[in-house]
Amino acid sequence: MQQPHDHDHDHAHSHLDEMDLRVRALETLLTRKGYVDPAALDRIIETYETRVGPHNGAAVVARSWVDADFRQWLMQDATAAIASMGYGGRQGEHMVAVANTPEEHNMVVCTLCSCYPWPVLGLPPVWYKSAPYRSKAVLDPRGVLADFGVQLPPSTRIRVWDSTAEVRYLVIPMMPAGAEGLEQQQLAALVTRDAMIGTGLARAPDRGAGGNPD
Ligand code: FE
Repeated sequence: MQQPHDHDHDHAHSHLDEMDLRVRALETLLTRKGYVDPAALDRIIETYETRVGPHNGAAVVARSWVDADFRQWLMQDATAAIASMGYGGRQGEHMVAVANTPEEHNMVVCTLCSCYPWPVLGLPPVWYKSAPYRSKAVLDPRGVLADFGVQLPPSTRIRVWDSTAEVRYLVIPMMPAGAEGLEQQQLAALVTRDAMIGTGLARAPDRGAGGNPD
């Protein structure tokens, strides 16, 4: 049921496409009954496919790396600090920023369902909603990190934050070594979605391209 599905046969489509069919059937039904405006639905989907995404969160993180006042505001009142950059709205009404340090690494999960900070990260990846991630993140966070190819020193504590319908967390990864002196935009390019969920780290700068290759 979770297998990649990029081929184009005319069989075995039943599992993956069942959800599509259900969603379409539901949309049709709700539209016919007048509950849903299809144009409005399209606008919402387009918004989260193009305008809202991890690049928003990456801009927030990059700014927090170079602007100490902003970082302080972000840690104290993430909702307001993030909104000041123009990112707010649904599923981001109560944001909390948690910053990684050498001593402590933060990871976010929603054990109940799939709560996620939409305005800064867009829509959640499939694995975030999966039962294995939701249970293993709590029971064995270091194992989850290993699954994602992340190895932290044993002395680094891992703190797992359980998102709820009320509070959404944004992990502020550590600025990678060698990134000092880069422009905010270049810094933002180092901030991956996974780094802001806590299942990854910020990317090391590519010293060959645009950096300081010395
Ligand atoms: Fe949830």
